[in-house]
Amino acid sequence: MAYRNLRSYPSDGSSARWPRDQANVLVDPPVDFLASLERFFHRQYTFSDMPQGYAVFNHTRNDQTTRAHDTHIYGHKEGHYVSAREFGPHFCCLARVMAGICTCKKCRSGRRRAKAAAAAATRARNPRPLPPTHTLFW
Ligand SMILES: [Zn+2]
Repeated sequence: MAYRNLRSYPSDGSSARWPRDQANVLVDPPVDFLASLERFFHRQYTFSDMPQGYAVFNHTRNDQTTRAHDTHIYGHKEGHYVSAREFGPHFCCLARVMAGICTCKKCRSGRRRAKAAAAAATRARNPRPLPPTHTLFW
């Protein structure tokens, strides 16, 4: 297994996006979560840290279910991830395991939103022309 020091790679994560409320408890170091990431990568790598600006939080459940808490990963500008599986593709990009455009859920929704905003800006700049007056009857 190859060790990857994730703190040595550039990251898009930010601690400014971490939750500050009582229901979320920081897991540091996130030993169990890093172990699930290693399983996600079929144990080809070992990790000792989260990427810069990313952190694992245990979110307390209020309902009476089998689990006392859920694991959430914060740091991405589009919101939090709910599992190692969901975070995996983004983690691949950050750890330079995979090159190219990130395929994770959060990056895809960010691109969709940016595209929609760009289309709306284009429509605002180029309003649809009014129909020519000769098509109007009165
Ligand atoms: Zn991503």
